[in-house]
Amino acid sequence: MATHNTLHNALLQSALKLGITYNMTVKPILIHPNPILTTRAEEVHHVAGEKLSGKLLTFIEDMKDTLIASAGVGLAANQVGSLERVILLNANYCAEVDGQSIVPFEGIVALVNPVVTILDDTLMPHREGCLSIPHVFMDVERPASVQIDYIDVDGKARQFKTQAGLFNAAVQHEIDHLDGIMFPDNLSAFQRRRAWKKLEKERAQLAETLNYPFV
Ligand SMILES: [Zn+2]
Repeated sequence: MATHNTLHNALLQSALKLGITYNMTVKPILIHPNPILTTRAEEVHHVAGEKLSGKLLTFIEDMKDTLIASAGVGLAANQVGSLERVILLNANYCAEVDGQSIVPFEGIVALVNPVVTILDDTLMPHREGCLSIPHVFMDVERPASVQIDYIDVDGKARQFKTQAGLFNAAVQHEIDHLDGIMFPDNLSAFQRRRAWKKLEKERAQLAETLNYPFV
């Protein structure tokens, strides 16, 4: 999920220019249309009680570097070309918007094999954007509260519950990516056409308007 908080972006971009990118592995973000964005990602093979593989942990680190470099709210593995069920969320940014008490994490959190259970199906609108659909921001209605069961980076099974807000919208947005669903898919046919038309209009300028690598 993308942010349109320009101050936040400006600070991160200055940090990147100052050389904080040293030792970072920033992967290019796939821009719609791309078949990987619309393909369901596969569960990561994990035996209860075991650690995640070194290869997966390295991939999660690369996703973290990519999320920082792109100043995104969240990132799903599909968006960097991998079909593994892994998402990352920038909890600090969500807490700035939602308030600390609503966001159950600090920093950037990685969720492996996240599973959503709806706790409150009241639909709440929230403005969403997506690193894979640059410059398009639209209101999407999603359930007000969900429970997420997932594996953390230590290989432990965990769960949390969300309350309506950016974090709730972001976690559902990122898990949608793992199912090959892009946020305009949740809009009316009219709104969806508007979203894709807007991206089409922006496409020729993406090289000049995006601060992150993309393909
Ligand atoms: Zn997205």
